[in-house]
Amino acid sequence: MNTEVLNGRLEPHGDGELISKVLETVVEQVRPCTSRGSVATYIPELGKQDKGLLGIAMASVQGDVWVAGDWDSPFTMQSISKVVSLGLALTEMGEERVFSRVGVDPTADPFNSIMRLEMVAPHRPQNPLINAGAIVTLSLLPYPDSHSRFAAVRDLARRLTGAMDLDMDEAVYVSERDTSDRNRALAYFLRSVGALEGDIEDILDSYFRQCSLRVNAKDLAVMGVTLASGGVNPFSGERVLSSKVCRIMRALMATCGLYDGSGEFAVRVGVPAKSGVGGGIVASVPMRYGIGTFGPALDPKGNSLGGIMMLERISKELSLRVL
Ligand code: GLU
Repeated sequence: MNTEVLNGRLEPHGDGELISKVLETVVEQVRPCTSRGSVATYIPELGKQDKGLLGIAMASVQGDVWVAGDWDSPFTMQSISKVVSLGLALTEMGEERVFSRVGVDPTADPFNSIMRLEMVAPHRPQNPLINAGAIVTLSLLPYPDSHSRFAAVRDLARRLTGAMDLDMDEAVYVSERDTSDRNRALAYFLRSVGALEGDIEDILDSYFRQCSLRVNAKDLAVMGVTLASGGVNPFSGERVLSSKVCRIMRALMATCGLYDGSGEFAVRVGVPAKSGVGGGIVASVPMRYGIGTFGPALDPKGNSLGGIMMLERISKELSLRVL
């Protein structure tokens, strides 16, 4: 039995048992498919991940957690951290200021694309969940340097996930920092057209640090349910974000959370979610559940192949679709 109730308040024959069974079954059914995906290698350290890993966790607004498979394997948030820095920026700077510098529209381009930035004037990143948008969003935060900017993002990530010791994976951070020509190109291009201000290397440093925040699937499930509940972490009882900020975050996750795979994911799964090239996906079912998945074997768009397959099956089995 690789599924357990970590904080049980479940009726023996209620939804809890059904959820345990569904999670266990999907991990078992989907695991062989992970051989069809590939781990990200453009960040060399991520290339060392075992692509056969697959895990899932689900948390309810009532404070229950169910887990299955490799739910406790650590991995880095990567782009999932963009949701955290967006939440921080919306809270500290307000909607109007953030969206005057970054758009809210989906893009049909890959996560690290430079093409549309140059083609469309004003040269404003299309949304805060692509790399260019996340870098601009970080630059707006009212902190003097990478150290304090990153500390603020990490603090919010800790409160969203309830993992108060959550921190960076140093090796992944160094690996991305030392190889990220593409993100440097994006940032310097943005500065050249007046879309990004400040010390570029310092802003990028905080971006690489937040991408390397290390979590497991259960941490993401708690983050997802905190967003689902309108900003109150059901485990700590703390109001972490306002319900308005959570609504904006869920809307952007629903439309832009899986990059150029967002439309297909909305059709197949129908739940707001955000992926990262570390293999994680966080999903948020409003007023009901948060789900965290981990499977480092990615599809060609950079989204976790096993994670999407598990979420599709779970959404159907447990009637989670909201889109
Ligand atoms: N750190 C990664 C990058 O900037 C994040 C990309 C992702 O997770 O999609 O390339």
